[in-house]
Amino acid sequence: MTAARVLAGGRMVPLLDRIAQKYRLMAPVREDGVLLYRRVDGGGEVCLDFGLPLVPPKTHFFPQTELLFSYAAADGLELKEPSGIPASVLFGVRPCDLRGFTTLDPVFNGRFRDAYYLDKRENTTVVGLSCTEVRPECFCGAYGGSPVDGQGADLMLTRVGESYLAEILTPKGEQLVRRCGEFFLPEGAEEFVRAKAALGRELEARFSRRVDLEGVKDKAAALFESSYWRKLAYRCLGCGICTYLCPTCHCFDIVDEDRGDQTGTRWRCWDSCMFRDFTLHTSGHNPRGSKMERVRNRFLHKLSYHLDRHGLPGCVGCGRCIAACPVNIDITRVIAEIKEVE
Ligand code: SF4
Ligand code: SF4
Repeated sequence: MTAARVLAGGRMVPLLDRIAQKYRLMAPVREDGVLLYRRVDGGGEVCLDFGLPLVPPKTHFFPQTELLFSYAAADGLELKEPSGIPASVLFGVRPCDLRGFTTLDPVFNGRFRDAYYLDKRENTTVVGLSCTEVRPECFCGAYGGSPVDGQGADLMLTRVGESYLAEILTPKGEQLVRRCGEFFLPEGAEEFVRAKAALGRELEARFSRRVDLEGVKDKAAALFESSYWRKLAYRCLGCGICTYLCPTCHCFDIVDEDRGDQTGTRWRCWDSCMFRDFTLHTSGHNPRGSKMERVRNRFLHKLSYHLDRHGLPGCVGCGRCIAACPVNIDITRVIAEIKEVE
């Protein structure tokens, strides 16, 4: 389903005002100089300038800390689960983060269906926003993405001059456009579609990182016993920021809080495969007890394991881990080195 409309110049903020009246609206805002997604009451709060929010929007579906249920056991067991979210719009998601959603979906909707994630996915309309620049760390093109790719969005917006092309990609996107119908014009969309294609070509030519993934999956897996990982791990501090900021990472821990009066809560909290405790068994055994094993696991998960399990790469080329790593461990350099290691 692709139908195209035009959102005329100057109409974006009023459109977001309208969306906020009809949905719970989550959008990028700049707070103390940091770009973040949070709930907004209107378009005036939303940052429309180009930028990749520091923390990926996966937090909307998979929050950093999430109450799973509370319980009271004094008089039989009573479980109380949180009510689901109201109809929401997640606005301004960049193409790499849209792919982050399609990468996470099979994890939470596979052999085990995660009702917490899926309820939020179901009740959220995702509005993507094409990039207008590329950052030095970006390499989404290596994974078949593009700065203007709408895969994973319900409605995809692309800025053309002062106006926006609006591509309706799913029934949820269609419903949003219908509910805000007076903002979207059918006239002139073909010209905007051509302008979007030209923008995509121009931005792809500007990628400063050329990443060749040919043969990397098999080579990385074949290097399981290589000393390469040990050398890489010497530099790693094990801080885990690469995994916390990654739109596709999904390790979590379950924490039970017993209040001591037969009531309590169960929480899900982000965890990281870069932390020693993540795989520590109660027996004391740890299958990934060394930093080398954890670093190796992270890269093999991105380059090989996720592909094996779900048919999709575990990386979308957002470059957040490259920008954030305090010791400059760079996944694009790791990919190039894997190709060279004997
Ligand atoms: S591994 Fe790094 S570049 Fe790839 S999706 Fe995660 S944060 Fe982005
Ligand atoms: S951000 Fe860098 S130092 Fe920190 S865990 Fe990741 S690779 Fe290691």
